[in-house]
Amino acid sequence: MQPITDPSIVEGYLTDASNIHGHAEGLVRPRNAAEVAEIVAHCQAHGIPLTVTAGRTSTTGAPVPFGGWVLSTEHLDRIVSIDQDTAVAGAGIYLGAFQDEVERAGRFFPPDPTSRHECTLGAAVACNASGARSFRYGPTRPWVLGLEVVLPTGEIRRFHRGDPVPAEWPVPAWTEPAVKTAAGYAPPVDAVDLFIGQEGTLGVITEVTVKLTELPEQVLGVLAFFPDRQSAVAFVEVARDAARRDPKGALSPRCLEYLDAACVELARERVGDVPEGAGAALFCEQEVSVDEEDHLEAWWEALLDAGALADDTVVTTTDEGREKLHAFRHAVPAGINERVVANGMPKVGTDLAVPDACLSEIMDLYEAVTLDNVLFGHIGDNHLHLNFLPKNDEELARAKAEYAALARKAVAMGGTVSAEHGIGKIKREYLAMMVDEPVLAQFRALKRTLDPACILGRGTLFQPEGEQAR
Ligand SMILES: Cc1cc2nc3c(=O)[nH]c(=O)nc-3n(C[C@H](O)[C@H](O)[C@H](O)COP(=O)(O)OP(=O)(O)OC[C@H]3O[C@@H](n4cnc5c(N)ncnc54)[C@H](O)[C@@H]3O)c2cc1C
Repeated sequence: MQPITDPSIVEGYLTDASNIHGHAEGLVRPRNAAEVAEIVAHCQAHGIPLTVTAGRTSTTGAPVPFGGWVLSTEHLDRIVSIDQDTAVAGAGIYLGAFQDEVERAGRFFPPDPTSRHECTLGAAVACNASGARSFRYGPTRPWVLGLEVVLPTGEIRRFHRGDPVPAEWPVPAWTEPAVKTAAGYAPPVDAVDLFIGQEGTLGVITEVTVKLTELPEQVLGVLAFFPDRQSAVAFVEVARDAARRDPKGALSPRCLEYLDAACVELARERVGDVPEGAGAALFCEQEVSVDEEDHLEAWWEALLDAGALADDTVVTTTDEGREKLHAFRHAVPAGINERVVANGMPKVGTDLAVPDACLSEIMDLYEAVTLDNVLFGHIGDNHLHLNFLPKNDEELARAKAEYAALARKAVAMGGTVSAEHGIGKIKREYLAMMVDEPVLAQFRALKRTLDPACILGRGTLFQPEGEQAR
């Protein structure tokens, strides 16, 4: 397959949400695994770096090429089948579109990165993406049953759960932090596992087989306001324990999402209807699994015990209530984007997670940051995104330094430097904080065995030889 070399077309494939801008000599858009295999074999034979790109929503520069060819998965977007328990689809289908089709068939595929309508199924696997519902359902990894992968040699392989990793592949043996994590090669339980979270460095995923589950019939939405962070955290601890004790109980949230005072303020500017005394908010969802009245009673009791601002808190299954929740939730990213545009500088967002016992400690550290910022995210997994909003180059440099210091502290607490976005090209130094040199050497040995000329995803996870740190 001849690559497209017209710069005006290639240009559209050279960046991602990290704002890093790369360059490439050619673009290929294969339509099936055989074409992918032909391209990969050609690149391997000629030492041409090959970067897989999909929705380009990565925040880490992972799909950004620095030379060679870029392979877009956009035409690998076919749904092969949707059955009762499994579905099979091409890697390039948008995740949200795939989920909509699955739900039309009355089934459910839970992983829900916020970007799900702009990111692809294959990349969600390649990055082990997660989302709000991961509190209940975990990240993408446990939902993957099988993969079709083109190895960096150009060989097409199909792997099913339980297939052993080929004996000649040196798998990394290390202990990941006991938190939600998407940093580095996970010690694989089988051959499928090896290609989940590899960030496009070990193989091109062309087709994905996933497990489906029951589509919840009814979901209760909750928007709770609290006078301060401490009372919100008190509620989270109670709700999280209850959900772990009984995942189908009256108080068993499927997501617990935190919004700090700055987020509440952004929402107030846009939707108005936000209580004056609110210093924090939680957005939560509860799948209706017992009598609705029992859910309501359990939620109100726990919310009031924790000190929620009862008059302003919404617990709803109605369309009107949901609209209020929706408007509030969307006001926050819209407000942040406006600030980023007004500042004319990129935001710098953390992706750290820590063990349960360290939640308040890391939140103290986030709140001690003096640069302009907003804090929100997946508090059920102790995984919050602190978004620095620098206004000039000096603040940008300070934000990066503060980020590195926070990453070091999260690691010292037994946490991860990336819970969901991955390492890519801009967080390699953080991976080295979490993983010592012998483990990094194991990662490199695996990479070299599968990809001897190091053509695939060059610069992601590993710094190319002779290149300055990015
Ligand atoms: C607004 C916003 C919200 C986000 N929210 C979340 C969130 O809630 N949770 C979360 O986990 N992430 C989130 N992300 C990050 C991002 O959306 C995810 O990492 C997503 O999985 C990337 O998908 P993509 O299709 O855009 O892939 P790209 O950004 O194009 O690529 C990402 C990586 O995957 C590799 N890759 C892509 N397809 C394949 C393939 N078929 N085979 C092998 N490698 C492949 C690429 O080489 C690259 O390394 C968010 C990003 C944005 C901008």
